[in-house]
Amino acid sequence: MTDAERASDHAGVPDAFARLWTPHRMVYVGGQDKPEDDGEAACPFCTAPGREDAESLIVHRGVTGYVVLNLYPYNPGHVLVCPYRHVADLTELTDAERDEVGALTAAAMRVLRDVSAPHGFNLGMNQGPAAGAGIAGHLHQHVVPRWGGDANFFPIIAGTKALPQVLGETRDLIAASWAGSVAR
Ligand SMILES: [Zn+2]
Repeated sequence: MTDAERASDHAGVPDAFARLWTPHRMVYVGGQDKPEDDGEAACPFCTAPGREDAESLIVHRGVTGYVVLNLYPYNPGHVLVCPYRHVADLTELTDAERDEVGALTAAAMRVLRDVSAPHGFNLGMNQGPAAGAGIAGHLHQHVVPRWGGDANFFPIIAGTKALPQVLGETRDLIAASWAGSVAR
């Protein structure tokens, strides 16, 4: 992290994640990856598990679902809990999938508290394009860490908020903490 900037050098509430200026990663926050349709072949939540964790920004793999860093984060550490199956609606999940979405959400909260001590969380899923789902064909539960006053800098809005930070570094921190929390 030789060219990393410290979070404390920036306006806002300091957190555990340093920020970097990485133009090559801006493709991740510019929306270019958003698929035009919701087919499984073009679905980022279907293709991500087929790649290495570090490449896909996956922080944990469960039995029926996994947890991935959001490419369009509202806040540092914003993760998504997804079933492996390409399923759009909560009512279409099996009981096991629904249970694990809940369990992984709670585990993500514990891990993020360990990593960056947020003051609170926003949890939830947008069901359908009319409700604001960016990738409506594949259910994903948002887990957004919040700090007091962060809305001044990272508004929770329907659009996307680009953060010039190293998503890979953030993934490494969260994945390592998650692995440690399972071990202890
Ligand atoms: Zn999918």
